[in-house]
Amino acid sequence: MHVLVTGGAGYIGSHTCLALLEAGHAVTVLDNLCNSSTVALQRVQEIASKSLRFVQGDVRKPHDLALAFEAGIDAVIHFAALKAVSESCEEPLRYFDNNIAGTICLMQAMQGHGVHQLVFSSSATVYGQPDVVPVDETAPLRVSNPYGRSKLVMEDLIGDWCNAKPDVGAVLLRYFNPVGAHPSGRIGEDPRGTPNNLMPYVAQVAIGRRERLQVFGNDYPTPDGTGIRDYLHVVDLAEAHVKALDFASDASGCHILNLGTGRGTSVLELVHAFEQATGQPIPLDIVARRAGDVAEYWADPAKANACLGWHATRTIHDMCADTWRWQSLNPQGYAP
Ligand code: NAD
Ligand code: UDP
Repeated sequence: MHVLVTGGAGYIGSHTCLALLEAGHAVTVLDNLCNSSTVALQRVQEIASKSLRFVQGDVRKPHDLALAFEAGIDAVIHFAALKAVSESCEEPLRYFDNNIAGTICLMQAMQGHGVHQLVFSSSATVYGQPDVVPVDETAPLRVSNPYGRSKLVMEDLIGDWCNAKPDVGAVLLRYFNPVGAHPSGRIGEDPRGTPNNLMPYVAQVAIGRRERLQVFGNDYPTPDGTGIRDYLHVVDLAEAHVKALDFASDASGCHILNLGTGRGTSVLELVHAFEQATGQPIPLDIVARRAGDVAEYWADPAKANACLGWHATRTIHDMCADTWRWQSLNPQGYAP
């Protein structure tokens, strides 16, 4: 298949492009590089020893979409989005425009070019504070910020499109917490500015770019008092996208799947695993809770197991070791 990957230069997109090339697919990337670097795509091609097609452009621009679709696209994986929760609270309209308007433009272009298969990046953030764990796809949806709102609106729009057009098949993937890097250490997560997420922050403390980790609260109702999440290796996540693409090609309608390991890990457990996997000490301070954080959640991935024949195979140790290989080989990320 020839797959259009929007946002393919980004963290999850670059790992997925590699998995697609390795699985024998042709790849066109459409990315405006607002949060990524073409170095990631150069390295993907070097690792795969295969080339991909890159269109620098915006999913909101019909002209850029037309260029991307020119190559004869069979299916789309849609990663392109803004993703910082705190920024979305300050600039909700920018998030709605980029994420929601971008997705509408993409669906219009797909329809115009007769492309009917879509795999979409959603997020476990749509569950908000869950009533029970593990969280399955039937859990109530409670978004608490504009980023989460944009994901939920996009899910609904894609669902309505599928309802109206029986030949459209879409898979909406709700990721839990993607972390880690390709084991080559050549591609990984390269946040701009101060990382919002735990794992890249820990990695930057280990490499000396940040002095100490701040642990946001140790008074949650969890065994060690720190927040619990379902961390998922980005290579497992990339492999799930290749399987979701195959699933979407045989399916019609809209299918929603959780992607996680089904296991929860606390902040302190993750820090200790990182120290063990890498030998790097992580100095830390316990500080107040971060506003809006939930105490704990992890996925019930049974539906993805059943529909895709997929389950995560990489451990927390792998996630830490691969993150550290990437960070130590690229102390400043993709910057020279
Ligand atoms: P990322 O920022 O590394 O990648 C997103 C890519 O999209 C970037 O390369 C960016 O330049 C591009 N982009 C953004 N807006 C665009 C536009 N209008 N036109 C063209 N390109 C555009 O983020 P990521 O971590 O790889 O996330 C990928 C997707 O997964 C996003 O949709 C994100 O919301 C979703 N997601 C991420 C996480 C996570 O923790 N990383 C968790 C759940 C869901
Ligand atoms: N966290 C922390 N310090 C940080 C970043 C995150 O203690 O610098 C905690 C956070 O409170 C949560 C967990 O680590 O319990 C995962 O946070 P992240 O932002 O990575 O994921 P999310 O909360 O969005 O699921």
